Amino acid sequence: MFDNLSDKLDKAFHILKGHGKITEVNVAETLKEVRRALLDADVNFKIAKDFTTKVKEKALGQDVLTTLQPGQLLVKLVKDELTELMGGDVAGINLSGNPTVILMSGLQGSGKTTFSGKLANYLLNKKNKKPLLVACDIYRPAAIQQLYVVGDSIGVEVYSEPENKNPVEIAQNAIKHAKANGFNVVIVDTAGRLAVDEEMMNEIERVHKAIQPQETLFVVDAMTGQDAVNTAKTFNDRLNFDGVILTKLDGDTRGGAALSIKTIVNKPIKFVGTGEKMEAIDVFYPIRMAERILG
Ligand code: GDP
Repeated sequence: MFDNLSDKLDKAFHILKGHGKITEVNVAETLKEVRRALLDADVNFKIAKDFTTKVKEKALGQDVLTTLQPGQLLVKLVKDELTELMGGDVAGINLSGNPTVILMSGLQGSGKTTFSGKLANYLLNKKNKKPLLVACDIYRPAAIQQLYVVGDSIGVEVYSEPENKNPVEIAQNAIKHAKANGFNVVIVDTAGRLAVDEEMMNEIERVHKAIQPQETLFVVDAMTGQDAVNTAKTFNDRLNFDGVILTKLDGDTRGGAALSIKTIVNKPIKFVGTGEKMEAIDVFYPIRMAERILG
């Protein structure tokens, strides 16, 4: 995960390790390499620039050069800033409401259906909840089928109305079904398209308005880098979602999405997907991720 970024940052700090006495020039050089590493990881240019400016200001403020171990202090400042960049504190999931309604949004292929299953499994086993999965994709019967396969594998009931072409009604009926049958979490998996289109946006906006979820989650494939960030912005403008789910972090992702998304949409990354299995879900801890990146 983010191996290339880790390597490059490691090399950047080597500049400092090679010097007996560290000068302002060495620090500037290191930060330039840090910026380069971020850009290589597909972090947006302005974010990368602001990042190193902030670290530099802090380094000057703390008189980095006069401390005993300036290299270590600089690593710490970078780690703190990376943590901030990814959201600072861990963001929990809001499980208020009975049932708690969770709406999943995102493009087709982002991992919505898989993540819906993972979240249901997590809530069932870790939070002692009784979740219901809802298939609201009215365009692809295969998507409904896929949710049944997922539900079966974790022992969670799936609600669908294959004949109904109105996703608002399906979602509302599912909530009624949940109330009547003792489900305390309803996870609504919606239709996604390969690219953002107006019809999809209108549809999910209608569902969102009708069911007023406690949590609207935006699912995005971390492999898509800056595209992920742009898509997040579009969805957030329309849905004002509550959190981001970054999937496929087990792949060869460069890190750009994880590092840029919070700044662009000002919403936390809540969970990450790290594989195809139902157990491959992790709560996102910015500090742990920063520590991992810095090795
Ligand atoms: P949807 O169209 O948004 O519902 O996306 P799917 O849930 O069908 O996922 C698309 C593909 O990505 C499937 O082949 C999933 O198995 C795969 N996938 C989903 N999440 C992850 C993940 O965290 N890691 C990996 N490696 N694959 C994932």
